[in-house]
Amino acid sequence: MFAIGYHSLRELKATFQEILSSDGVKWLKQPTQDDLLEKLKDMTFEIAGGKPTNFEEQYGGPLEGGSDAEFPERKLLRWLHRFAFLCDDEANLVVLPAMYMQHRYFWDDAYPTALRYGTLGFFLGHEMAHGFDDLNRLYDNHGNLRDSRSPDTKLIFDHDKNCLADQFADLHYSGLKLPKMEAQGENIADNVGIRLAYATYTKWLKLQSKVPDTETLPNMSQTPQQLFYLSVAQSMCTDILEDRRPAFVRNSVHPPNESRVFVMMANSKSFAEAFQCGNQTKLSPAHRCAMY
Ligand SMILES: [Zn+2]
Repeated sequence: MFAIGYHSLRELKATFQEILSSDGVKWLKQPTQDDLLEKLKDMTFEIAGGKPTNFEEQYGGPLEGGSDAEFPERKLLRWLHRFAFLCDDEANLVVLPAMYMQHRYFWDDAYPTALRYGTLGFFLGHEMAHGFDDLNRLYDNHGNLRDSRSPDTKLIFDHDKNCLADQFADLHYSGLKLPKMEAQGENIADNVGIRLAYATYTKWLKLQSKVPDTETLPNMSQTPQQLFYLSVAQSMCTDILEDRRPAFVRNSVHPPNESRVFVMMANSKSFAEAFQCGNQTKLSPAHRCAMY
């Protein structure tokens, strides 16, 4: 399982490196472009929970605690947080919870490779992209606060970020209009992550002499490209109790998953191609947003 994680990260890094070196991001200018490439090169990967954690030793007994000790619930939350937290940007580290690496959850030898890139590949790409989102791009590869961007570069970055913020502010969830949010870290990570995973998958596909028979699922007619996008959406499939949705829309720093999936797909030209969406439809708009 470690090998799959490391291998995927290496491939995704190579794709991100191509994007960050391409003409499309000339606006980053020097020395920012070099700084970002350096940060990417030094980014490491760790599987949390890959080694056994001694809960008692690290955090004390979960049920211990008194007036001068931390509440046990808080200890437990802190412990659980460790396993849910996927990107430590100050350490320039992508952390993947071991539970994500379970056999048959994200990947299996019997699954099409499209599924591995649409799940594990997308999650890793998303976490990697967090290092370059609206907050964490300010940290260099050693975790020091450093922003080398020129005023022009800042303008373009903010323009692209605002493009995403406007897209979400146009959406409704359960009849409620989504607020326009200043923080766009999740949306930037989604936008870059899905592009990284898809580009890395299509590179793999091109290396095969022909599309392998294993790139389909039994009794399903989807193409490999469609399976990739379906698996991204499937892995983000969640629901929120109806009476909690208004509070979620008001308080959450993330838009609801269904809105995130919708925006990711609408911004992916290759999604529209894979599903042959007509021009200027909801999922194939005339104008798309792209970070980097
Ligand atoms: Zn995230």
